[in-house]
Order: sequence, then C-alpha cells, then structure tokens
Amino acid sequence: MHEYKLVILGSGGIGKSALTVQFVQGIFVEKYDPMIEDSYRKQVEVDAQQYRLEILDTILRVKDTDDVPMILVGNKDDLEDERVVGKEQARQWNNCTFLDSSTKSKINVNEIFYDLVRQINRK
Ligand code: GDP
Ligand code: MG
Repeated sequence: MHEYKLVILGSGGIGKSALTVQFVQGIFVEKYDPMIEDSYRKQVEVDAQQYRLEILDTILRVKDTDDVPMILVGNKDDLEDERVVGKEQARQWNNCTFLDSSTKSKINVNEIFYDLVRQINRK
C-alpha cells in the first residue's frame, strides 16, 4: 500500500476544510472552525491501485519549487457570478494542472485528489 501525504494550501475562506471534509467524509460543511488545523486519512483506489492518503488542511506556504506535484483548484464553481480569478488566468498560473471544483455540488472533488496521486506516481 502506497502512503502519500498531501497538503491543502490557500487563503482563509476559500473552502480548504470543506473540500477536505467533502472528500474524506462525503459531507458539505457550511461552518468549520477556521482555527482547526488537522490531518485526515482516507484510503482510495486510483487506477486499480490502493493508496492511503494523509491530507493536511492548513495555510502553510510551500517552498518555491516547481518540482512539487501540485494542482491549482478554483473552488466554489457553483458561485459563477462571484468568480474572481478568470479560468484562463488560472490555467496559465505556474504551469500546473488546474481544476474548477465545487465542494458544495460535489464537482471534481475526487478528481483533485486522484490527479495528485497520479502526479506523484509519475515522479
Ligand atoms: P477554509 O478557510 O479555506 O478552510 O474555508 P472553509 O472550508 O471553512 O469554507 C469557507 C466557507 O465557504 C464555508 O461556509 C463553506 O461552506 C463555503 N464553501 C466551501 N466550498 C464551497 C463551494 O464549493 N461552494 C460554495 N457555495 N461554498 C463553499
Ligand atoms: Mg479551514
């Protein structure tokens, strides 16, 4: 069994905790204590392989290296009227994979984490 550690980064309020909890527990949380910084575990099957993921929900900054498997997530895609960052702008950022998601509508939740697993496998 492979064990991968993933870190969720970004500003407060963008939905890091909601995304993590939706992926791990399958529920959408309206309110999550912003002070809680926690790690979660989930066993998943990606491309017929089993993985144990440890997901750290935080706002840490990573070192500025492009060698880290990474995915840029545009969350809250259900709130299209309130879009702040354009899709083209996001796609060009840092040359990394970009996915829109909605934690609320359960769009691209699994895909985010599965893509990370595949990126790690390619390293
Ligand atoms: P964090 O500070 O990045 O951990 O953000 P939270 O996970 O606490 O989310 C902040 C707020 O955004 C909460 O009220 C969530 O319910 C809400 N939220 C998170 N993801 C989505 C989403 O995809 N769509 C909508 N409409 N709200 C979301
Ligand atoms: Mg949070």
